[in-house]
Amino acid sequence: MDLTQRRALVTGANRGIGLAIATALANRGVHVLAAARTEARADRAAHEIGSGATGVRLSLDDPGEVRRATAAIAEEHGPIDILVNNAAILTPGSGVGVSVEELSESMNINVLSAYATIHAIAPAMKARGWGRIVNLSSGWGSFDEGLSGPVAYSVTKAALNAVTLALAPALGPEVKINSACPGWVRTRMGGLGATLSPEQGADTPVWLATLPDDGPTGGFFRRRTLIEW
Ligand code: NDP
Repeated sequence: MDLTQRRALVTGANRGIGLAIATALANRGVHVLAAARTEARADRAAHEIGSGATGVRLSLDDPGEVRRATAAIAEEHGPIDILVNNAAILTPGSGVGVSVEELSESMNINVLSAYATIHAIAPAMKARGWGRIVNLSSGWGSFDEGLSGPVAYSVTKAALNAVTLALAPALGPEVKINSACPGWVRTRMGGLGATLSPEQGADTPVWLATLPDDGPTGGFFRRRTLIEW
């Protein structure tokens, strides 16, 4: 597929899996808008990714503001064809040891801000007849695997999966939206003992971000294979 005419927005592109996804897309000729919480982090990421990347500031703390800021990014840099909702936080804690405020913060960053970027961008993708949206989820957000992670993390990743599934019928088939579990990856979130490099963790998200027209939508994938919700 000729990706050189495509523009991608990757959230949390300044480190970890997001940086690896942004780099892989740029290496395939996509123009990458590398989003990070501050302008300095975004610019550093774009510099690291190299030619074909532009840094953009996108803090995900306030979903209403995220919608406005994402629309402004598309207005300034041009239509976005590929959206990768990668950024997230992992708040530790099990059971009701997690406060309402902590769950609310995770909902804002991991779910509502991801929804806000989709809300800002997907209608234009639909109007242009092409789009790829990837939501970075986790096995810990899978009902099938027991929602077995820290509570705020599992609940929000399950909710993000629900966003994927609920939006797919109205967006498809031209605009494909899928969830990806990257596996256990050596990042600040995954820790040093994790089994996969960031580049390996980026493989399934990048595959979903560049799916051909007959590719799947509304699914949850790990190692490029469909898994249960
Ligand atoms: P990291 O913790 O290494 O990186 C998280 C990224 O999200 C950083 O760029 C961080 O920015 C950004 N971010 C967090 N909060 C905000 C915010 N409020 N506004 C803007 N940016 C924010 O995570 P990983 O790279 O490991 O994870 C990437 C994705 O993969 C996540 O969705 C995660 O849940 C998922 N995942 C990861 C696994 C793993 O083993 N690593 C396993 C399963 C899923 P900053 O540098 O400014 O903090």
